[in-house]
This record gives sequence, structure tokens and C-alpha cells, in this order.
Amino acid sequence: MPLPIDVRNPRTGAIDHRIQPLDFDALSARVARLRNAQRHWVGIGLQGRIAAMLALCDAVDRHYQPILAALSADTGRHEWSVNEIEGLKGITRMRCATAEAALAAATGDSSDPTLRFQQQYVPYEVAGIISPWNYPLILAMIDAICALLAGTAVAIKPSEVTPRFIAPFLAAVAEVEPLRDVLDVFEGGGETGGWIIDLTDVTVFTGSVPTGRKVQERAAAQFKPVFLELGGSDPAVILPGADADTAAEIVVRGATENSGQLCCAVERVYAHESLLADFTDRVVARMQALKMNTDRIDDGELGPIIFARQADILRAQIDDAIARGARVLTGGKIVEHAGGLWCEPTVLADVTQDMAIMRDETFGPIVPIMAYRTEDEAVALANDTAFGLSATVIGDEARAVELGSRINAGGLWVNDFDTMGGVGARAEKNAFGQSGMGGSRYGYGGFLRFLRKKAIVVRKARSA
Ligand code: NAD
Repeated sequence: MPLPIDVRNPRTGAIDHRIQPLDFDALSARVARLRNAQRHWVGIGLQGRIAAMLALCDAVDRHYQPILAALSADTGRHEWSVNEIEGLKGITRMRCATAEAALAAATGDSSDPTLRFQQQYVPYEVAGIISPWNYPLILAMIDAICALLAGTAVAIKPSEVTPRFIAPFLAAVAEVEPLRDVLDVFEGGGETGGWIIDLTDVTVFTGSVPTGRKVQERAAAQFKPVFLELGGSDPAVILPGADADTAAEIVVRGATENSGQLCCAVERVYAHESLLADFTDRVVARMQALKMNTDRIDDGELGPIIFARQADILRAQIDDAIARGARVLTGGKIVEHAGGLWCEPTVLADVTQDMAIMRDETFGPIVPIMAYRTEDEAVALANDTAFGLSATVIGDEARAVELGSRINAGGLWVNDFDTMGGVGARAEKNAFGQSGMGGSRYGYGGFLRFLRKKAIVVRKARSA
């Protein structure tokens, strides 16, 4: 039996929860049940699956308060916990509305008139989803929704850092037949994650680069496909002539959503020297206006650092930047309040590209600002990274698109931040560099991850 895992409360630092991962045999039996039920799930057809997924949205509404309370305890923040639940329902409904078009099997004519060709999609039987702690519910389900609609059963292993939401969420799933037979969620840590890879047919992993590498290696040894959604160190470039206040608003929003605990958070800012001073002042003012929710969970934009070890990373990055000559314009400290840890909204000036804060993933509400002179220099700085998740460019639209197109990243947000959710069912993007691997999570690609293509080629009867 795996050892129980203690779970820390991010607001109090207290160990007030414990999970007991299943042993391998018990986990195998639960995944086998999913596999057995998958045939029936395919058999009910797409409309049956859509009905079940929409029924899940209603079930989540019936269990809204317990799910919200657990998510809030997991993460120490209120508003983004509400957003996660609303987001889950919104994504589910959007995917249900587009599943039919996405799953329509491509039928093509054969170039040989004596051959009849038909393309079929065959879903994998069971997908394994391994997810991180920063958005526990959404990142557990974002790929599962497409897998389920495609006809694949799903075994999810969320982070052991934020497992409280699992029980109330499973209580909602249990009310939806036959979805409850093909969707299961397992408590556990890395060992359980490894077993999920072993027991399923395809893995979607969202998490860090080092763990992603281990997941990839384990799956490769078994010839199993893997999709990796990893970290980032996303740049924002402010062009000359940009409105400094608009740029500051976008950058601060991009750097502080979910207290910066966001894979595509703005983590490096390159401002043209002509507006550096004005832009920096406005960023500082906006950061200083943000409130940490230390006293009340629903009073303040910035929640605690969810994973305590992350506080050490933030502290080390800030210390390294200061030691190499950066100036702290505001914030700069990790504060402890009643046992929880919060990172002050922080702005750093005089940063250089060799600082850890510009090279590594940060995952905190920190804005390091650097000046640039030429567009070539801005592109070179933005591309000076191992990552390639997304990038923000602010300024004249045509110039921004042109410059942004030269940045090695799968998403480019022009004059806004992370607008991917707004562009609908067909928009796709890949993660470049070490930010990930595999087909697009977004658009129709999100479904295609769980489908194999079968070609049926029939020799027509001679008389036909
Ligand atoms: P992590 O890599 O530590 O853990 C992620 C998951 O992997 C957890 O469920 C964990 O239990 C599991 N795991 C650990 N060891 C394993 C192993 N050997 N085999 C299988 N599974 C194993 O990541 P984290 O700290 O939970 O999350 C933060 C990271 O996630 C950041 O790097 C962030 O950028 C990234 N992230 C990426 C996206 C994206 O969409 N690209 C979204 C959110 C977070």
C-alpha cells in the first residue's frame, strides 16, 4: 500500500488533510472497470455522450457549494475557484456544441475508381490525465471533456498538492449515468501518476518540464503516445508608441492572474526605451493597488502561494535578481500571514537576461522590466529562452503582429492577454520548445488526440 500523503492548507500552512493513494492492484481494477464500460460509452453515440456531458454541468451545479469549498481550501483563493467551476461548464458546453463537426470522419474519394475509401476515427479505450495544482479542476478536466466526447474513458490523477476537490467532484459525476462508468479520478502522487501511464493507452500530462520528461520516457518505453503541456516564461514586448497605461493594465493582468500561478503568465517584460519610465510607473501603481487576500479569502485579488516549495523558488529568484543588480520598485518579499505564504506584487527594474527570473519559470506575481532599443533586439530577447508557450505584444497592431510572428511561441496575444478562450472552436496552437509536445489541445485538435485514424479501402465489385 502506498504511504498516505499529507496535504497542506495554503492559507494556514497546517496539514489538515490526508489522502491514501490506492495500491497498484486496486487502481488496476478501477481502470479495468473504465475500460470495460468504454464499449457501451461508444455505443450510445455522440448524442448520448453529449447529453451525459451536459448532465454533468447540471450535476456540478447541484454540488456547487461543496466543490467550491474544496477548491477554495485547496488553493486559498475564492474568485478563481468560482471561475474554475464556471469555466468547466463553459468549456464543456462549447465542446458539446462543436463535437459533431470535430468528430465527423473524413470521407474521401479514392483516386482509383475501382477502390472505395472510407476514413474512420477509432477512439482509444482509456486515456490517462495527469494534472498540476494551479487550476486543480479545470486542468483535470480540460482534456478529459474532449476525450469523453470522442468516446474514450478517462482516468484522472490530479496533483497531490490540491486533492480536496476530488471527492465532491466525484459525487457530482456519480449522479450522471453512464458517464460515471467511464470517468474516474484518483488521489495520489508521482507513483500513482506512473501507474496511470502504465494502465492507460494515451497520456495527457500538464505540469513541469522535469516531470514531463519522466512521463515521456515512461510512456516511450511502452510505445504509448503522450501529449505534454508544460511550463513557460512568457515575454511581453511593449512597442514604441504603445499607450503606456493600456500596456501596464495588460501586463499586470497577465502577470498576476491566479497570483501568477499560470503557465502562460507574463513573466518577462521588454519595454521600448522611449516609454520605459512612464510604463514602469504605471505598472508599479497598478501592482500597488492589488490586495493580497490574507485576512479574508474573498477580499483581495492575490491568493497565497498554493505550493509551499514555490515560495522558495520565488525568494531565490528575487534574491538572485537583487544580487545581480536589479532594483525592487515595489514588493519583493514573501510574507507569512497566519501560517500561509503570499508573494507581494513585485516590480523589478534594471533586470538583465542572465538573471534566473528571466531564464526560469517564475509562477508568482512578479513583473521584471527590461528596456530594449530595436525590434531585432526585442525579438532576440523574447526568444532567448528554452520555453515557447506564448507571448504578448502591445502597440500598433500591424507592427505587433509582424514582430510577434518572429517570436518562437505557440500563442501570440496582441493588445490583450491570453485571449485563446475567446476565439472559438477552430483555433489551435502548439507549445513550442520545452513548453510542450504533441498536437493542439485547443480547437478540433483537442478531440483528435484521442482518436486513431482507420482507413477502410474496398475493392469494388467489377460490375459496380
Ligand atoms: P509537477 O510536474 O510537479 O506535477 C504535475 C503532476 O505530475 C502531478 O499530478 C504529480 O503528482 C504528477 N507526477 C509527479 N511525478 C510523476 C511521475 N514520475 N510520473 C507521473 N506523474 C508524476 O507540476 P506542478 O508543480 O503540479 O505544476 C506546475 C507546473 O505545471 C508548472 O511548470 C506550470 O507551468 C505547469 N503548467 C502547465 C500548463 C500548460 O497548459 N502548459 C498549465 C498549468 C500548469
